[in-house]
Amino acid sequence: MLLALPVLVAGWLLAVASPAAAYKLYGPLWRDDDITYYNSYRPYDEFVDRGAQAWNASGMNARFRRVTSASKADVRIGLFSRPALPRIPPGTVGYTTLTILDKRVFVAGKVSLTLLTPDGVKEDRAMLQLIVNHELGHAIGLDHDQGTCALMNVQVRRGAGPEKCGTPPRGKRYCRMLELDDERGAMALYGGTPAPVTTPRFC
Ligand SMILES: [Zn+2]
Repeated sequence: MLLALPVLVAGWLLAVASPAAAYKLYGPLWRDDDITYYNSYRPYDEFVDRGAQAWNASGMNARFRRVTSASKADVRIGLFSRPALPRIPPGTVGYTTLTILDKRVFVAGKVSLTLLTPDGVKEDRAMLQLIVNHELGHAIGLDHDQGTCALMNVQVRRGAGPEKCGTPPRGKRYCRMLELDDERGAMALYGGTPAPVTTPRFC
């Protein structure tokens, strides 16, 4: 029997108690290595495309590919002005839901983002990019990771990046798109070889 269960998987600011560990997976993955996406909120296009490119450059044997209509997309990305689900606490700035077939494959994904100000201060643009990268991580099957520095940490700090990534030196800010631990999580799902992370964490 086939079961399609919508599962709430992600709230950026949800407090989750996790044991010290590296990347964590939900378990299921996409059926093939071509993961299509469609973003319906145009002002976020550049962030979504950059986030998809970051995951595509991770070394994983799967690819995000933009398609031109929502009906053709595995992952639908859009805006929500405030959290629509009762389990999502105030302060949540992104969440992802995945529909899982037979407890092993994703058949649909939905990434909801909040209205930050893409035309506003630099910090907001940088934070929005981190949120998009994080939610796309959920969309490929990564759970929160509270054991080490990773984009999949539960919380992001404005300017300082994911919460487990240390404190930037004075005058610097977090500037990575992914951490090695995120890449390793993606490899665990889809295979591949993690791309070296050579850019500085703070710049
Ligand atoms: Zn999350």
